[in-house]
Amino acid sequence: MKRPVIDLSACNGCGACIEVSPSVFSMNDLGFIQVADLESYPEAEVDEAIALCPQDCISWEE
Ligand code: SF4
Repeated sequence: MKRPVIDLSACNGCGACIEVSPSVFSMNDLGFIQVADLESYPEAEVDEAIALCPQDCISWEE
């Protein structure tokens, strides 16, 4: 299954991914973006988040 992953060393916490796809991306108590554990991911939303991420740090993992 395809799953989005975030390179946290590059993420600047801008929150754009959360705005685009709040069911997938959220910020945890430590201020890091996390990916929800879902059965399947809304591909179009995640692709939009990938396109908008200013740090290019979201990608799909097979
Ligand atoms: S859009 Fe990219 S840089 Fe911004 S919070 Fe999400 S993963 Fe981090």
